[in-house]
Order: sequence, then C-alpha cells, then structure tokens
Amino acid sequence: MKEFDIIKRYFTEQVVRRKDVVLGIGDDCALIQTSERNNIAVTTDTLVAGVHFPLATPARAIGHKSIAVSLSDLAAMGAEPTWVSLALTLPEVDEVWLGEFCAGIFELCEYYNVQLIGGDTTQGPLSITVTAQGLTPVDKHISRSGAKAGDWLYVTGDIGDAALALQALEGKVQVEQVFKDQILTKLDYPKPRVLAGQALREYATSAIDLSDGLIADLAHICKASSVGANIVLDDLPISTILNDTLGHENAVNLALSGGDDYELLFTVAEDNKVGMETTLANSGIKITCIGQLNGSESITTTFNSVPVPISSAGFEHFSSVNDD
Ligand code: ADP
Ligand code: MG
Repeated sequence: MKEFDIIKRYFTEQVVRRKDVVLGIGDDCALIQTSERNNIAVTTDTLVAGVHFPLATPARAIGHKSIAVSLSDLAAMGAEPTWVSLALTLPEVDEVWLGEFCAGIFELCEYYNVQLIGGDTTQGPLSITVTAQGLTPVDKHISRSGAKAGDWLYVTGDIGDAALALQALEGKVQVEQVFKDQILTKLDYPKPRVLAGQALREYATSAIDLSDGLIADLAHICKASSVGANIVLDDLPISTILNDTLGHENAVNLALSGGDDYELLFTVAEDNKVGMETTLANSGIKITCIGQLNGSESITTTFNSVPVPISSAGFEHFSSVNDD
C-alpha cells in the first residue's frame, strides 16, 4: 500500500463534517473559514533525517527547508503565510547545531513576517514537523481541482536541479565544484514561491507545489480536476548545469521525475494567459508554459511535436513496500 492509498483508506473517510472546513484532506493545504473576509490555510509537513534530507545536511539548511516546504504549500493555495508551529525531535542537545537550525528557521520567518507560535520538543531520531498557517481571501484561493481542458500549464523557475544535487551528493554523477555549490543551494535552501502564489490568485485555475516531481504532482492536478495533460518536453525550463551534466534526454527525465524543486506548477485559462504573464514578468518571476490540459484521462509528453513515452514517475513513500 502506498502513501496516498493509506491516506485515502484510513484518514479521508470520517464521521465529522464541519461547515467551516472549506477544503479538507487532499490539497496542498486545508482551508478553514472563520471570518467573512479570509480563510485560514493550514498545512503540516515532516522532514525525517536520512529520508527528506541527507544526514550530512547543515543544520541551517535543515531549519530553512523545514519552513520552506510548508510555505511552499501555502504558496500553492495563493495564501499569505502568517504563523508556524514547530515539533522538533532531537537525538541529543547540541547547542551549536540548534543555533544554526534556528538561524535557518528565523531567516525565512523574518523575511515573510511569519511568527513561530508554538510547537513541541522531544528526544529521538532527528525529525522536524512544521504546521504552517496563512490567510487567503474568501473565494480567492487556488486549489488542485479547478483546472479545465484547454487551460495552459505553467511552471515557475527551473526544475530538476535539486534532484541533480542529490545525485551529486550520492556520488551518482560528477559535477564541477562551482556548479555543485549552485545546485546544492537549490536542494538545501529552496525558495518558496510565496509572492508568485499570491499573484496567481487572480489568474490560476489550479496549482500545486513541486515536491514529489513534475509528473507525480501534475497527476494530482489531473486527478483532482478530471483532466489530462500534454507536456511539451522541448519547453521544460532546465538549467544549463543540468543539461550539460546529464545530456538533454537524461536532464529532461530528471526534470520530469526528480523531487524537491518547490516550484509552482499551475494552470491558466486562455483568456487570462496574457494578463498572468504580464503580472508575473513585472514581479520578476520566471515562468514557463510547458504544455496544455485536455479532455483525456492521461498525461502525455511530446518532443519535436512527436509523442514520447514517459519513462519515470515521481517520489512516493512506501512505493517499494508491498507494492501491489
Ligand atoms: P503535500 O505534498 O502538498 O505536503 P501530501 O501529498 O503530503 O501533501 O498530502 C496529501 C493530502 O493528504 C494533504 O491534504 C494532507 O494534508 C493529507 N494527509 C497526509 N497525511 C495525512 C494524515 N496522516 N492524516 C490526514 N491527512 C493527511
Ligand atoms: Mg504540496
């Protein structure tokens, strides 16, 4: 049984259905309506040492990433981040480590005016759980389920560099030191697309943040919106480092399947294409149109206008255990 099967089978069905829950399990955040103006967006994410980050990751990067991944989920809903809670499990008290970890956390919190409002501290194998909350105007949030056939598919930034950095750390590929430092920064210090998310409230029909890989995360939009999609591989935003290190074909495959990018994948109706592109360009945010949604039930890819098979999926917990 896989991660999403577990969630569906054991946690999605429940007796309690409250009217103030606008959106429950199944999106990047839950949405709770407590006032006439705003919904509260809530998301929880856990980072486990050796699973979500290599054991040798610097403490500052672990702190940064714990907050960044949650702010990224808020960004995917178009929410403005406001409060975080931190549940920290530590194997031992190491004050130098804690100082660096907190520096990573508070740098990002200060930048986005987010306050740490609580948490829990326990002893055990290193694991960090962050619950982040944010605000989004009522009826202005972006979900995974609003996409329509014909909408255009976009992604922010470049994709695949974080996955390349992981491969370099694991010794699977050789990357020149100066380039290695650049892609390691992408893996260790992902920049949540908070401003892009809020700008997209006016334009996007759906959005998700890229944590598990482009194909895997696009599949969530397609399923939630009952649409299919075609990705034009020629147009994928891939860095020169990734392209030159792996060669074009392998670079494209990694961009499709590699996780940890924390870019936004979103869809925009034809009528809003120009307005959205202008607004994001004015904000200095790089976006790329990488395909279009359709009425099929599948995800396809083309290169040079020729269909090509998809060779790899994204990251999923428990995917190799009892996989039936
Ligand atoms: P993301 O990758 O955006 O953090 P996930 O893929 O981890 O989201 O989770 C998918 C959905 O399932 C989310 O809405 C999340 O809140 C929900 N979810 C995950 N685990 C649980 C759980 N143990 N109980 C209830 N809901 C869960
Ligand atoms: Mg997400």
